[in-house]
This record gives sequence, C-alpha cells and structure tokens, in this order.
Amino acid sequence: MSDIVHELEQKKKELQQEISEAENKKSAENIKTKYLKSFMGELYKKLKTSEDPELKKQMGRAINEFKEYASEKIDHLIEEFVSEKKSNKYDNTIFKNNIKIGHYHPITKLYKKIEKVLISMGFSVVQGPEIELDRYNFEKLNIPAHHPARDMQDTFYVSIPNILLRSHTSSVQIRTMETRQPPIQIISPGTVYRVDDIDPQHTPMFYQVEGLMVGEKISFSNLKAILTKLLKEIFGNEAKVRFRPTYYPYTEPSAAIDVSCVECGGKGCRTCGNSGWIVVLGSGMVHPNVLEGVGYDSEKYTGFAFGLGLNRLALIYYGLGEIRKLYENNVSLWKQL
Ligand SMILES: [Zn+2]
Repeated sequence: MSDIVHELEQKKKELQQEISEAENKKSAENIKTKYLKSFMGELYKKLKTSEDPELKKQMGRAINEFKEYASEKIDHLIEEFVSEKKSNKYDNTIFKNNIKIGHYHPITKLYKKIEKVLISMGFSVVQGPEIELDRYNFEKLNIPAHHPARDMQDTFYVSIPNILLRSHTSSVQIRTMETRQPPIQIISPGTVYRVDDIDPQHTPMFYQVEGLMVGEKISFSNLKAILTKLLKEIFGNEAKVRFRPTYYPYTEPSAAIDVSCVECGGKGCRTCGNSGWIVVLGSGMVHPNVLEGVGYDSEKYTGFAFGLGLNRLALIYYGLGEIRKLYENNVSLWKQL
C-alpha cells in the first residue's frame, strides 16, 4: 500500500510542477492526457491485479483521491488559458510601468531658464564650496571683520572665526578670479545660508545665482544690457526694468534692479506693496579693492557682478505666495507650474 501512496505523492509533485510550467492550452491538454488517461490506465491495471480485497479498497480510495485532485487542477488550468488570463504569463517582454515620474522643482525649472539665457550670452557655469572660508565669503569681498554688512548676512559658523556656511554665492567670484585671468564671464548657482527665522518670506537656507563678467572696457552699459535682456527673457518683453542706486560693499556703483509687478503690471497691488515694482536682482561694478585683492590691475580691468535669490524669484514668477510652498514637494502642484 505504501508503495502506491508514495508514488501518488510523487506524481502530485510532478503534476504541480508541470502545471506551473504550462505555457498554453495545448500544453494543459497534454497534461490532462498524461495524468488522467495514461497514468490512470496504469493505476487501474495495478488495481485489477491486486488480490487482497482490503488492499484493493485502500488503493481504490487513494486513486480516486488523486484523480479528483488532478482533474480539478488541470481543468482549472485549461479554463485559465481559455479565458486568456494566463496566456502571457511568461512573456518577459511585457513591462508594466508603475514607476511614478516626478517633475522638475520650480526652482530648478527657473534656474534652467536663467542658465540657458546666460549661457547663450557667453557665460559658463562654475561651482564653489558651501562650507567656505571667511576670506572668500567676506574679507576679499571688501567686507572686513567689523564691517556692518556682516550683520546683514549673519551666518552659521562651522569653526569661529574662519570657517562658515557661505552667506552668498559671491564667494565664487573670488575663487574664480584668484585662479584665472580676465576675460571672465561666469555664473555660479548654489545653496546659501543665513540665520533667518522661518516666515512666509525667509528660510535659513536658500538658493542664489551669482554672475561675474570681468575684462577690458567692461562698463555699466554692459551690465545694464545683459541684465535687462535676462529679465525680459524671464518675465517677457513687456516687463519694465528699473535700476536704482543702492549699496553693496563689493561693488561701486551698485544697483538694485526691479521689474514691473507681474501681478498688477505696475498699477500697484499687495504683492508689490502698491509700488508697482518688485526687486529681483542686486548688481554693480566690481569694487576696485576686490579686483586689486585678487591681483588684477583695476586700471586695466573692470567688471560687473550680479546676484539673484532664486527662491524669491520663483515665488514671484510662479505666484506661489509664500516661500514654504517651495519646500513642500507637492509634485501635482509642480506639474501645473
Ligand atoms: Zn503689483
């Protein structure tokens, strides 16, 4: 008796294996012939030749059980192929794409736009470290130790007094000029840090793009032409651009640049504080002290620099309202922008 039980157990395993490997209706039907006709035929023959009536009874029960099991499994398999549920089970060429594709962050999108315009005007992109030396972040930019401008850019120190998280990308100006001779025409995007409490307009970490152009006979007209072109490319040709005198320690003269408010077109609204204008850029002619500090002859070379806050610009450009929205990573919102 144990022989046939053992044999049937073994056959069950083989059947399961063949069912899992079946590729189409034809192979399922072959399985049916093999197990329910040929194999059953053999079993019945064995049953007939058995002489012990008790043993015969037990064998008959075991065979019927197997037959029932096999019929059910095989019929189910054939049914699956008929309804085609299983017909492509092993088609490895089918790729179910369930990966959700994200979207460019508005800051990246806006930066790419700015970069494209400036590269088309001959600028190249350089990078600088975020952990910076005081020398590059302040000292060489004409901001000595007790200069009041340091208070406006209160930053995080990694090691007092010399190593800090850069408070602006202007440090890259110095690093570039120290290692290269004019003509220089670069932009440098990146993260900057300041000790600011988080509010609708401020975060302690934000993004800037710095620009620098130094060479012979570079004048304020070049600054004006390039930055007007940049802003018109971003905000459209109808946008008005205004230059106002301001103060930065590393430029002289310095200009704050405004564009006509994108919300009200210059009439005055909440976004522009009723002035009709929005500040978007800081700029100026590179201070002779800065040029001399990196070993340039300030009689021979002149240049201009500019910096813009990408977060602020993205808020204005996309009409997002408050800066925290930029850190919420709302992909469905990004897709609409
Ligand atoms: Zn306005």
